[in-house]
Amino acid sequence: MNSQNEAPTAVRKVVIAGGGTAGWMTAVALSTHLRGLIDITLVESEQIGTIGVGESTIPPLVTFHKLLGIDERQFMTECAATFKVGIWFEDWANLGDRYLHPFGAYGQQTLLCEFHNFWLRSRELGDATPLGAYNHEWMAGAQHKFALRENPRINYAYHFDAALYARFLRRRCEQRGVKRVEGKIKQVRVQPNGDIGALEMLDGQVIEGDLFIDCTGFRGLLIEQTLSTGYEDWGHWLPCDSAVAFQTRVDTPAPPYTACYAHTAGWRWNIPVQHRVGNGVVYCSRYLSDDEARHKLVTDSGGTAVKDPWHIRIRAGRRLKAWNRNVVAVGLAGGFIEPLESTSIHMIMSSVVRLLRFFPFAGMNPAQTAQYNDQTRAEIEHIRDFVCMHYYLTKRDDTPFWRHCSRMEIPETLQRRIELFRENAYVWQGSGEVFAIDSWVAVMMGQGIEPRNYHHYARAGDAELMNHMAQYRARVSGVIDQLPAHHDFVRQYCGAEETAWG
Ligand SMILES: Cc1cc2nc3c(=O)[nH]c(=O)nc-3n(C[C@H](O)[C@H](O)[C@H](O)COP(=O)(O)OP(=O)(O)OC[C@H]3O[C@@H](n4cnc5c(N)ncnc54)[C@H](O)[C@@H]3O)c2cc1C
Repeated sequence: MNSQNEAPTAVRKVVIAGGGTAGWMTAVALSTHLRGLIDITLVESEQIGTIGVGESTIPPLVTFHKLLGIDERQFMTECAATFKVGIWFEDWANLGDRYLHPFGAYGQQTLLCEFHNFWLRSRELGDATPLGAYNHEWMAGAQHKFALRENPRINYAYHFDAALYARFLRRRCEQRGVKRVEGKIKQVRVQPNGDIGALEMLDGQVIEGDLFIDCTGFRGLLIEQTLSTGYEDWGHWLPCDSAVAFQTRVDTPAPPYTACYAHTAGWRWNIPVQHRVGNGVVYCSRYLSDDEARHKLVTDSGGTAVKDPWHIRIRAGRRLKAWNRNVVAVGLAGGFIEPLESTSIHMIMSSVVRLLRFFPFAGMNPAQTAQYNDQTRAEIEHIRDFVCMHYYLTKRDDTPFWRHCSRMEIPETLQRRIELFRENAYVWQGSGEVFAIDSWVAVMMGQGIEPRNYHHYARAGDAELMNHMAQYRARVSGVIDQLPAHHDFVRQYCGAEETAWG
């Protein structure tokens, strides 16, 4: 709250607008790590509610929980969570095709080139073993097995009930002194210098702050409706603009993966938590009407409904500045990539970690906010490319939607990745990028790219190579043979006599 020529105001009072997954994850991280340094108030409205989806995650969340001192067993039990070792895709490249994107590495890496180069050589020599046989997570996923173990570790993430997760985080926050205000924000007060000064509630309360975190979801009440920050729309690269979700009873034991089934104009998800299954259809409204999508969801998901379908409009893209003046947008308010690779909660987590690192204790600093914004942009653009790739690399031409996807123009950054892989099986992971080399390999090969060449280091000794490959996959099989069924492990880990699957 200073004019252009005054020294910036030190930040002491932080106001978080919104109590969905983004709001509570932000509150728990700030209250854990900046305890005693700042005061935190979180405002949410039960009447407005939350988006009610967002239950599938990727592995960095496990580390985030560790940094927050969250007890995993308690989290799993209270949030009805299950483990997840990858994402299962059906009908993406061609009707009838299927592949798993696992959360771990294939084989052993060398300094010169990655394992898939050796696998390509072994295949050329006549070995038909799938690449997944050299990957612990792939094998565990295919056999619906899981256990927490080290050496080798089975990499994992979680599925959880979003409403229970928000409640779980809220309890931790309140123990750490976060003040929660229930009610609707009527108006956002702007200072003469253009910064936000306070939130005015419907009941007349005024909540002042130095720094505001906008977690109000797609509406972006502070960052957009008040500061008119602007949004870069990526609908031409990610054409789905709608979703419809519903929840069903558990009929079968939960597999340790999220399933994504492509349909005529988008895809359908299946996310198993302990007491129910989350289902949804993501679609492009130019090719499928809301009624058709709802019908498809109910008939294709099967199962008995525990919550009726609800529709959500989505818009792929990013806020032009995630941090604008004294407002930082986190969660849906900051940008959105559809949930195909379960990346939104990850982006909440990384925004919050970035905010902790860049926290403006001494007040707003333009160089600092610019650096924060650059990193945020790079992260979401990388994820955009990864998700866009699934659509572009389809070989389906059975519907106008898939014909559109295979012919659309794609970002130059993605084009380069695809060309290098197609030509030389070459893949890389840039600094700060969440998707590792083996994730790109899993999806590019899963979507049917056959590299024309590979690194010739893989040809150094064929007999030795074949021997090593046989030994490696025998070791992987030996580890997976020892694992319990995923659902038995969850039941035992959470100390439950029984779960919904028995
Ligand atoms: C179809 C779909 C599927 C998804 N699946 C996944 C997934 O599998 N994995 C994943 O990582 N992510 C997924 N996401 C994204 C994920 O749901 C969100 O990133 C996450 O839930 C965070 O949402 P949020 O907290 O930003 O917004 P919201 O949940 O919308 O919360 C907004 C909050 O702001 C409050 N609020 C708004 N206006 C006011 C006001 N005027 N006054 C007071 N309070 C107000 C609301 O009450 C609420 O508390 C999915 C998203 C969609 C649309």
